Amino acid sequence: MSRCARLFVVSGPSGVGKGTLVAKVRANRPQLGLTVSATTRSPRPGEIDGESYYFIDDDEFSRRVEAGEFLEWANVHGHRYGTLKSEVQKNLDAGRSVILEIDVQGGLNVRHAFPGAVLVFIEPPSAEELERRLRGRKTEDEAAIECRLANSRKEMECAPLYDVRIVNDDLDRAADELERTLDSYESDGGTN
Ligand code: 5GP
Repeated sequence: MSRCARLFVVSGPSGVGKGTLVAKVRANRPQLGLTVSATTRSPRPGEIDGESYYFIDDDEFSRRVEAGEFLEWANVHGHRYGTLKSEVQKNLDAGRSVILEIDVQGGLNVRHAFPGAVLVFIEPPSAEELERRLRGRKTEDEAAIECRLANSRKEMECAPLYDVRIVNDDLDRAADELERTLDSYESDGGTN
């Protein structure tokens, strides 16, 4: 059966483990395309410009918004983040599906720009488990954690607007389910 390169959007509350999940699926599928987002936040230790993100300042971000270079962009936790159209298109043109790991505001905007995009929402098994995971990362101070928990609650309200919902109760099981989702939509063709 022929396969069609598709644009997948993976969203979910901060701390739900979507980064780990997507990394696992990517490890099994080296043929997936990579896109690097742009952000105005500062790099964390170990993050590399052009790999983790394109770290740009506010003026440069505004210039790119004006130039129409973003497929979507959003304010998240006080900084701007955006997906560059060029990053997505170069992969789809080369026949590689793309997974965008972005917040819900961005995800819902992508649906307008790319009606063939498949929106996948990663859910925690429970609100308590999400808080435990978020605190366990130890990368943010208390104020940042409180901010992320408040955002998480809002993000969870958007889950019903997504095409597919996957509960990250167990990493291997959830990764399998995400892979089966990719398979089924790639086989299905689509309008990308
Ligand atoms: P972090 O600062 O922890 O790397 O990311 C914070 C949030 O920004 C995460 O929820 C992440 O999904 C979101 N994010 C990262 N890149 C993009 C992007 O290109 N567009 C949008 N809308 N959100 C993004």
